[in-house]
Amino acid sequence: AGPTEAALAFVRHYAEVVHEHKSELTKLDSAIGDADHGENLDRGFQAALTQLPDDDAGADAVLKAVAMALVSKVGGAAGPLYGTAFLRASAALGEHEQLDGPAVLAALVAGEQGVIQRGKAEVGDKTILDAWRPGIEALEAALDEGASCPDALDRAAEAAEAGMADTIPLVARKGRASYLGERSAGHQDPGATSTALLFRALADTAR
Ligand code: ADP
Ligand code: MG
Ligand code: MG
Repeated sequence: AGPTEAALAFVRHYAEVVHEHKSELTKLDSAIGDADHGENLDRGFQAALTQLPDDDAGADAVLKAVAMALVSKVGGAAGPLYGTAFLRASAALGEHEQLDGPAVLAALVAGEQGVIQRGKAEVGDKTILDAWRPGIEALEAALDEGASCPDALDRAAEAAEAGMADTIPLVARKGRASYLGERSAGHQDPGATSTALLFRALADTAR
């Protein structure tokens, strides 16, 4: 399969995963937010599915369509954050001919930069970044060691999942959960959870 098919497969798979985890994500958000993270992402990705381009459009066009759907259909924090991430990832992929390890890494790094610019969070603030950053670091390390793209993405997903679990004791310093102060500790961050699911979906569609 070419890059466009691979990107379409990833988006379709992640949309399905978000749909399956909708209640779980919302339940996490009910503990430290406003109980809508699952609904928000599911609405955005279901909309994205209806707006995907043809399979000769380019992988960058696929990610751009997702970004547009997220920005237009999802309010709150996660819509603009993931929307910006997909838009930046799309721009980064436009620079690559193939959808290989380095291209995926470049897309994820660009996406992270977008999240940071828009949300101003740092690692440890109990956000999306707490899964995203370790995921990227593991991916980069694995590729440097010569791992195949699917193996490197597996390691990235494991690291993102560990980062997700590590948000439990953290006190939130960004987003709605930060309004709770110390009471935000003891709960897993919903956004870090949806990001870990995203890295896992990437690994699963690379096989
Ligand atoms: P809202 O909080 O507006 O209802 P969601 O519930 O969809 O939006 O998303 C909440 C998630 O967004 C949080 O769990 C957190 O991971 C993430 N988040 C919030 N603010 C930021 C930020 N400034 N930077 C990165 N991620 C953030
Ligand atoms: Mg919410
Ligand atoms: Mg909300």
